[in-house]
Amino acid sequence: MPNSPLTPGVQSGRLPGPAYARNFGDLEPVLDRHEAHVAADRCYFCHDAPCITACPTSIDIPLFIRQIATGTAEAAAKTIWDQNILGGMCARVCPTEQLCEEACVREAAEGKPVEIGRLQRFATDKVMAAGVHPYTRAAQTGMRVAVVGAGPAGLACAHRLALHGHDVVVMERRKKPGGLNEYGIATYKTPDDFAAKEVEWLLKIGGITLQTGVELGRDVTLEQLRSEYDAVFLGIGLGGVNALRSPGEELAGVRDAVDFIAELRQTVDKSTLPIGRDVVVIGGGMTAVDAAVQSRLLGAETVTIVYRRGQDGMSASLHEQEHATQTGVRIIHNAAPVAVVGAGAVEAVEFAYTQTGPDGLVLLEERFTLKADQVFKAIGQTLTPPPGVAAAKKLDGTPMAGVWAGGDCAAGGEDLTVTAVAEGRDAAEAIHATIMGAVR
Ligand SMILES: Cc1cc2nc3c(=O)[nH]c(=O)nc-3n(C[C@H](O)[C@H](O)[C@H](O)COP(=O)(O)OP(=O)(O)OC[C@H]3O[C@@H](n4cnc5c(N)ncnc54)[C@H](O)[C@@H]3O)c2cc1C
Ligand code: SF4
Repeated sequence: MPNSPLTPGVQSGRLPGPAYARNFGDLEPVLDRHEAHVAADRCYFCHDAPCITACPTSIDIPLFIRQIATGTAEAAAKTIWDQNILGGMCARVCPTEQLCEEACVREAAEGKPVEIGRLQRFATDKVMAAGVHPYTRAAQTGMRVAVVGAGPAGLACAHRLALHGHDVVVMERRKKPGGLNEYGIATYKTPDDFAAKEVEWLLKIGGITLQTGVELGRDVTLEQLRSEYDAVFLGIGLGGVNALRSPGEELAGVRDAVDFIAELRQTVDKSTLPIGRDVVVIGGGMTAVDAAVQSRLLGAETVTIVYRRGQDGMSASLHEQEHATQTGVRIIHNAAPVAVVGAGAVEAVEFAYTQTGPDGLVLLEERFTLKADQVFKAIGQTLTPPPGVAAAKKLDGTPMAGVWAGGDCAAGGEDLTVTAVAEGRDAAEAIHATIMGAVR
């Protein structure tokens, strides 16, 4: 092992070989049959179940849990997919502690909810592993819909449209489909190429043509799509990232966290990935936590997240924050960067403490400096509106006639995988009603 966590600079191979497989393996492996039955037996099968209301895709949770309890995992998986076709991924990445499991009556009564996410994974994994795709398309309608972006929103939209008998062309600018499922979600939440396997499974519905390497605005215009298709769905996510706006931001070693995470997700041999000895991550969301945790897992000696507001202002859930600190990440609240310092490459970051008052966030006189040979910026992503669509912070759900939008690029809802799936699915229903209404 040429390097260790103590080797100065940005270096690869800081850990012994087997450590990488351990660190980036499945964080929470799938339940076995017995464990699933024990977990399912804890459900009260509530009438007016609050867990359903808390799920952005409104999965009938008590029904699928009862189906698991009665030994019909196939039926359980179908119950899940009827509402959320990416139920396999959502079982892995949903912040259930803020959604269904937070609402579970057993959480209120005992502080220990029914393990809804893990039960969902048990059912969907079992049926996917058997290669079963339990949907058949309706008779072909002759209608054609263009879906731009093969992330969770675009994929959910495409599947629902294909189910209704429409022909769908999905255009994706990257080499691989999946959006942030493929390029963003933390590796240990979705190991073994699950994102790609799920897309492959989803496409088994038929009627969906996937075109990768095709970019709206470069290879095709919105006007072309509007004239050649019966409807267009935009699920283009948030392509831009916010700048730090601090002097020194351009120094070597300062990088967007989402780029780093995308590279990490696409690198098979993680020991080849260079990482700093002292890493500083600026931001307070899931991206910040994922960049920080994975920096530690790559062997960085110290990793510090610095967030400009208090703990309750962080958009990463408490569960995610705890996971970060358990991995050895330090979190400093109420501090904002004022300068990135270094000669050629970053050496340190200077921060000012902050205070939130009636005039908003103010920088205080008190300063501190953190040693850093790598800095990740995770201070939010922004929409890059496609040419032909008015510039806005986020798109309206129906930005113009014949065009729908959903997922992270659209206003409303939280920027979560499950929300993107719900919006893609609902847009498909709206498109279906509109284009079929138009021919009746
Ligand atoms: C690092 C990170 C970690 C995350 N972790 C979690 C998590 O653990 N749990 C969770 O619920 N959520 C998580 N999220 C949020 C979640 O990934 C997103 O909310 C979700 O992926 C949004 O789906 P989407 O389809 O709207 O957009 P995206 O997943 O961003 O997909 C958009 C797709 O459109 C393509 N595209 C963009 N512009 C064009 C164009 N002009 N032409 C053609 N194609 C285009 C993009 O290449 C991309 O494939 C995370 C996000 C990040 C950044
Ligand atoms: S709230 Fe909890 S106990 Fe009630 S149906 Fe949902 S998962 Fe079961």
